[in-house]
Amino acid sequence: MSRPVQTAKTRPDKRENMMGKKAATKDSKRKTNNRPDWDTYFLDIIEVVSRRSTCRRRSVGAGLVRDRRILATGYNGAPSKLKHCLDIGCLREQLNVPSGERHELCRGLHAEQNVIIQAALHGVITKGSTLYCTNHPCVICAKMIINAGIVRIVIRDDYSDPLAAQMLKEAEISVIQL
Ligand SMILES: [Zn+2]
Ligand SMILES: [Zn+2]
Repeated sequence: MSRPVQTAKTRPDKRENMMGKKAATKDSKRKTNNRPDWDTYFLDIIEVVSRRSTCRRRSVGAGLVRDRRILATGYNGAPSKLKHCLDIGCLREQLNVPSGERHELCRGLHAEQNVIIQAALHGVITKGSTLYCTNHPCVICAKMIINAGIVRIVIRDDYSDPLAAQMLKEAEISVIQL
């Protein structure tokens, strides 16, 4: 019983190794070395997610990951089936509200809010997960992230919100910028 299993397991490996040695060109080596690490891999995916944003100002993407599996994704925009700021305009833009202020004037949900809501909607546990986000969360999102049991955040771009950074630090959630 164990013999066929062993053969099936070892054969492809051996074949690969032999072929690898024979065909070890500079190109194949370069490809191997250029593989993104996991944080870069998930953050790159989230950057694609952010392209679905319907905010007139900033395109943000977010994703929750546990054990190298994507649990849910989200981007910033109005609630499902409702008109988006992109289509009907945004009061924050019309009133020239500075970045980071008067979030309640906008119809949109933040990407981090949407990713947590998506997980809840589909019954996925957020506890112990890592949040990948194109930007540093604002303070509203930071509070939700803390209570969703997210333990680690990986971001690409910063966003000036000292209270958000302070609260995440207080909650001992590490924020890594790539
Ligand atoms: Zn808006
Ligand atoms: Zn936010």
